[in-house]
Order: sequence, then structure tokens, then C-alpha cells
Amino acid sequence: MPELPEVETMCRGLHPIIGMQIASALCPKISVKPCGMYPEKGKLLKKLVGCEVLGIERRGKRVVIQLDGGNLVFQPKMTGLVSLTDPPDPGHVRLILKVQKKAGSNRKNIAQPEQVFFWDRRGLGTIALWTNEELENHLGPDVLGIDALTISVSELQSRSIKSKRPIKVLLLDQKVVAGVGNLYASEILHRIGVDPTRGADSLSDKEWIALHAAMLDILQTAIRYEGSTLGDGTYRNALNENGSYQNHHQAYDREGERCSKCKRGSIVRIVQAQRATFYCPACQR
Ligand SMILES: [Zn+2]
Repeated sequence: MPELPEVETMCRGLHPIIGMQIASALCPKISVKPCGMYPEKGKLLKKLVGCEVLGIERRGKRVVIQLDGGNLVFQPKMTGLVSLTDPPDPGHVRLILKVQKKAGSNRKNIAQPEQVFFWDRRGLGTIALWTNEELENHLGPDVLGIDALTISVSELQSRSIKSKRPIKVLLLDQKVVAGVGNLYASEILHRIGVDPTRGADSLSDKEWIALHAAMLDILQTAIRYEGSTLGDGTYRNALNENGSYQNHHQAYDREGERCSKCKRGSIVRIVQAQRATFYCPACQR
């Protein structure tokens, strides 16, 4: 967390700042360990001031603010959040960008944003300002896999079919497909009735087609609900409101509950590659 639907929601929420200019940039004094930055803080802040926002883009699970002075890339990792309004608490705000209308701009905006926050409770997230070339070196198609919303079933299958890794673990590999994380991987496999411990090479053509369709449907539906806000409350949309897809999870974090699909089994929790997996042993084969 946050995964593709949450990061996509953050990106969409940032659209009102397109065409605006960064008036100032600062890292508030906080008592927790600073998060990773490139270039180092002083240089980064100086470079950001005066930049114009040209566009917003999502790369896998990262938010990219395209500037006329480079690409500002936020990687939220476990608890990071990019927002336009007050983040969950002041003690973990990592970066504040004050934005203003460009001088001479006559654009009208009903809700004119004034600030962009990068907030991160655990501080595992990162902030980087990269040139176009650096962006491609770090997150280009040869480094990051094809996005989960655009990958075709044959691309997904050809990248996975020779792997003996458990299918759940494989889906988390961003080089195979970018954007799926722990939560949505459990949901996708529950939807299609595939045991998360099965080797990727054991899936039939029919199962790959079902997996691809479920992945698209679940991610797109989760975007419509503006992502999942879990119990830790760290994820919100750009306007500081909870997402609501958590109310539609069928497997994730439902250990011990009756399976909503087969109504026979109960959801169990196992650990795969140090991450929790939730599934129904009765109907996921
Ligand atoms: Zn079941």
C-alpha cells in the first residue's frame, strides 16, 4: 500500500495544479528520520522553485509531477501520500510546495490549490527530481514492467509463464507487471479461484485470461472508489477523504470470515515472501 488505484487517485487529485508555478518549496522541521531525496535537500528545494507544472503522470506505484525543470517523482512505498490539503498529521510532512498561478496566466480555477504536500508516516517513501533521461533510466519500459492497466493478456502470460514462483509472489514483481501490490494480488486470485501458492507456470491459458480480466476489473473498480483506506488511515485522496474500496474487499484482511464466493470455506492468512496473503482454501485451487 498504496498500490495502483491509490496512486492513480493521488495523480488525478493533483490535476488542478497543472499550469501552476512552484512559488516555494520547503521541508518542515520534524523529529523523525528524513525520507530519501535526490538530489540532496538543499539542491532539490532550490531547483523546484519557479518550476511550472506541465503535467501529472503515474508510473507504476509512483506519482510523477512533470515540471519544466525535470520530473518530480514521489514513491509513496508503504505510507506515503501526495495531497493538496492537510495531511493526516503535521509531524510527518516531508515536503511542502506552495503553488501559485503563473504570472500573466488568465486561467480560471474554481478551487485553486495553494499547496502540495508529501506526507509519509513511516518515511520509507522517496522524493526525486529526475531529468527525462534519468526518469527513463529508473522507470522506463526496460526497468519497470508494463502498467497493469495497459498490459495485454499475451504480454502478461509471456512474461510469467516460465516462472515457477508462486503466482501471488510473481504478481508483486513490478518488472513483470507494474502497479499490483499485496492487497490487490490477493483480491485478484480470490476472484478467479486460483490458489496463490501455485507456480505461475501451472496456470492454464484460460486462467491467464481470467486473471488478466479480473486484474483490470478490480483495479478499475478500485479507482472508481478512490482506492482502499485501511485501518492505519494513512491513505486519503488528494482532498483528505478516505477511499472506499476497502468496503468491497473479498479476501484481503478478512481472515476467519466466511468466503463470500463459495460460502463454504473461510479466509485464511499465510505468509509468502514476507508478505501476508489472504485466500480461501475451499475455492481457490
Ligand atoms: Zn471460497
